[in-house]
Amino acid sequence: MFRAADIVEIADRLRGTAEIFAGKSMLFAGGRGFLGRYFQAVFAELNRRLAKPCRLIVIDNMITTKTDERVEDPSFTYLTRDAADPIAIEGSLDYVVNAAGIASPFYYRAYPLETLRAAVDGTRNLLELALAKRARFTFFSSSEIYGDPDPRHMPIQESYRGNVAAMGPRACYDESKRLGETLCYIYHTHLGLHTNVIRPFNVYGPGMQELDYRVLPNFASAIKGGRALRVYGSGRQTRTFCYVTDALDGFVRVIARGIAGEAYNIGAEGPEIGIADLVDRIERVLGRAVAREQVEYPDSYPADEPNRRCPDIRKARLQLGFVPAVELDEGLRRFFAWTDAHYRGTP
Ligand code: UDP
Repeated sequence: MFRAADIVEIADRLRGTAEIFAGKSMLFAGGRGFLGRYFQAVFAELNRRLAKPCRLIVIDNMITTKTDERVEDPSFTYLTRDAADPIAIEGSLDYVVNAAGIASPFYYRAYPLETLRAAVDGTRNLLELALAKRARFTFFSSSEIYGDPDPRHMPIQESYRGNVAAMGPRACYDESKRLGETLCYIYHTHLGLHTNVIRPFNVYGPGMQELDYRVLPNFASAIKGGRALRVYGSGRQTRTFCYVTDALDGFVRVIARGIAGEAYNIGAEGPEIGIADLVDRIERVLGRAVAREQVEYPDSYPADEPNRRCPDIRKARLQLGFVPAVELDEGLRRFFAWTDAHYRGTP
């Protein structure tokens, strides 16, 4: 499911932060997705190290998760629930996290209303739960809330207001994440709840499903199956890619220590790389040529996409001590070694 060494690496990096979770309880929505499953693996590892384990209640509606893999830990409870449905939890709760969402453009294009429901109704419902329990609340938003950024605002700071379409193929995701953020803002400023927002920037790593349809799983599946890598559009659109150990380190820091009411970019600050250049990079890392083709955006993919994306992460560095450590080449090496062993190569 993961690289075991990555889980140990994350737990090691969280020394001095993770102790705060000893004996605490957390409700984690969207826990069966790519990032949620990492959370459980990390918390299982932390529970082995903490004086008292952290109780984790994991909910997921299983819309996009195809795997039934679970992390075994006596302190974990798994429930099949929608984040937007009211939920009664016995006893205290110290943390509520909404990571429920449909983050792959392919899937949110196919499930626009479910996407909206997770970010808006799910966030509202879980904010109410956090309010009742006086728990700290963390919402997984997205770098997509910035839309297609003005080049004068690159790299993107948290204060950038974004350039987003209310009507368009990505609107169900961008706008619902924005409204989820507004809900956090209101519950913080009007109701005094401790809320934080995380804006992840293109997180990747072992554990991504082969049919996730984001760029790196697509490329890895194509390589495994001996098919050409398909670069959409001009191939000049850029992203920075954040290896999952760095991302998890950042996420847990926000949940544990985020300043009330604040949003944090979590991602890699570089390299900002075009998708065509990413293919060159993959060839270099693998040490061999791979077939590629430049294609029009497929109908299944929301073409109205950001031309550039690159975070400014100074806020998380200064306030939370977040320092990404895995270079792109190293992350790609770990990812492709894992996909080579776990992907089937069939589209
Ligand atoms: N992309 C691509 N080929 C693919 C999938 C994606 O060229 O098979 C491009 C896509 O156009 C975008 C980038 O890769 O510029 C990242 O897309 P992804 O779906 O991973 O996530 P996004 O950053 O758009 O949310």
